Amino acid sequence: MVITLRPDATPEQRSAVEARLRGLGFQLVQAEGGPPVVLAVVGDGSVPPLAEIRAMPGVAGAEQIVSPFKLASRAFRKDTTVIRLGDVEIGGPSVVLMAGPCTIESEEQLVRTASAVRAAGARIMRGGAFKPRTSPYSFQGLGEEGLKLMRRVADANGLFVISEIMEKSQIPLLDRYVDIFQVGARNMQNYPLLRELGSVERPVLVKRGLSATVDEWLMSAEYVMSGGNTRVMVCERGIRAYETYTRNTLDLNAVAVAKSLSHLPVIVDPSHASGVRDKVPPLARAAIAAGADGLLIEVHHDPEQAICDGQQSLYPEEFAALSAQIRAIAEAVGRTL
Ligand code: PEP
Ligand code: MN
Repeated sequence: MVITLRPDATPEQRSAVEARLRGLGFQLVQAEGGPPVVLAVVGDGSVPPLAEIRAMPGVAGAEQIVSPFKLASRAFRKDTTVIRLGDVEIGGPSVVLMAGPCTIESEEQLVRTASAVRAAGARIMRGGAFKPRTSPYSFQGLGEEGLKLMRRVADANGLFVISEIMEKSQIPLLDRYVDIFQVGARNMQNYPLLRELGSVERPVLVKRGLSATVDEWLMSAEYVMSGGNTRVMVCERGIRAYETYTRNTLDLNAVAVAKSLSHLPVIVDPSHASGVRDKVPPLARAAIAAGADGLLIEVHHDPEQAICDGQQSLYPEEFAALSAQIRAIAEAVGRTL
């Protein structure tokens, strides 16, 4: 249920509404923004007494939220959530570029990639220090050493940092080095991790699982939000389908559907969605045209030598050319870069 209070509701009237619902076993979460004050009623108490709450003094209206996710729903918050990181706004009028290597390899790699992506308009640097690899024998990431390197290089280039977290025990470590926690596709249903990320300060990007429905994906975002962290964005990164020319299939329906169902910013990762370098730019362009709030793109200064995902990593000059096209498309759909 979502409750809208009257503009002239007194603190006592609000307390009475909250006390009644808490008494039934629910929790109340206030939407950001307003007035008016909008409260979501969540939890597994008994069925919320809609008619009774509507009749209480100070209540302007109360509606059932029909979607399985509540806090992530547009019924709870009409305007798109804007996540602020310094002077960068994710979910605002500007689309945001996040770019960098699949995995952190060396200082030289980071320095060369960071300066190139920054010059081309990226504001957030990506790079994995803990890699979820299909084979246990593949490179697993540089760990803390890699995070230290990326933090230093990103700071020197005026970039924010996003990096993947694989388990909840890594939260204190990553918290020291990253600006955004990335939950990978394989961990989208790691509920203990999602719950724990509900109590961190930093924003969280939740990637869509390899075969997750939009409801399941948004429910994972809801897990984080239900712990009190409302700075959540979701990322479409392609789903498993029968086509083999590309690594995955970019689901642009999911972008449009998530944008209409949820107020959370939607990011698209065309690199993992296609798995093929020359298919990344067309998917990236289409994503922005479809309403995505930003892109997460793999860029490497020397993709032929990359330890991981070189075949889908853009050369820096390709990223710069793409960025110019993204700027034009953003403007065509009423946004900026
Ligand atoms: C990544 O972004 O580095 C990654 C592993 O992506 P995904 O979780 O989407 O496979
Ligand atoms: Mn990768």
